[in-house]
Amino acid sequence: PITPTANIWHNGQLIPWERANIHVMSHVVHYGSSVFEGIRTYSQRDGNSIFRLTEHMQRFQDSAKIYRMPLPYSLEQLNDAVIDVVQANGVAPCYIRPVAFRGYGEIGVNPLKSPVEVYIANFPWGKYVPGNDGADVCISSWNRLAPNTMPSLAKAGANYMNSQLIRMEAEVNGYVEGIALDHNGTLSEGSGENLFLVKGGTLYTTPLANSVLNGITRDSILTLARELGIPTVEQALPRELLYICDEAFFTGTAAEVTHLRSVDRILVGDGTMGPVTTALHKAFFDIVNGLAEDRYHWLTPVKVR
Ligand code: PMP
Repeated sequence: PITPTANIWHNGQLIPWERANIHVMSHVVHYGSSVFEGIRTYSQRDGNSIFRLTEHMQRFQDSAKIYRMPLPYSLEQLNDAVIDVVQANGVAPCYIRPVAFRGYGEIGVNPLKSPVEVYIANFPWGKYVPGNDGADVCISSWNRLAPNTMPSLAKAGANYMNSQLIRMEAEVNGYVEGIALDHNGTLSEGSGENLFLVKGGTLYTTPLANSVLNGITRDSILTLARELGIPTVEQALPRELLYICDEAFFTGTAAEVTHLRSVDRILVGDGTMGPVTTALHKAFFDIVNGLAEDRYHWLTPVKVR
């Protein structure tokens, strides 16, 4: 369950959490016409920071643009709005959820006549994929969005109907998460995570053309891998490479860096977190926890107390 905070930002103003309601006849309720973000704060010894705020809010604007949804706020205004609500609520570490959607107006499918509403909420939130021993995952019988059906570079609410099918199927079959193939039958991503694997010391991930979200954690890991001198390859990957690779892991704001113990009950490597994953996991957490220099300017400080 969500732990409420005091305020939610709505169209430029802070309103009480319990008054952030919409009408049941709002366009979004019927047709899934929303775009959103998921952002985390991390605590350092001397305070708290938002991870890659600008990149998240840029993707928020991009998602809205794809769906012809005008957001009447600049990138700077959106960044400031996130900082305002986090500081007003005084809760950290937290998860931040900006959402924009087509509200109450017309009930036809065409969204263009319904008003755009923008909200930003934050609340305390913990680990997403459970267990430090690694995740037991499966390949889903559901494919990821085909590129000419739903644009996967938009982080749109409706995309998560596909994610829900993947996630539910995995769960009822005893897995913590499912990985979907794309429309070509090659690997895409988890229901809410990007996918990486390591074979022969090279780090592989699926390219943006394979129906994946342009994950900000994915980009962070690719950046850190290059810094560590780990060869990185973005190319279409066959399913069975997951069975014979040395290491595999998910990345995401919620999942952070979570290693895969098994795929379809086949052990990945020896099932433990391998050396490349361990090195990238450490490099990532050293930055977000303030143990290493923030050399890519990924952290935006916030005053929460
Ligand atoms: N793919 C999907 C489908 C997701 O929902 C997410 C989570 N936003 C990701 C990948 C990971 O993206 P990020 O690292 O930006 O959280």
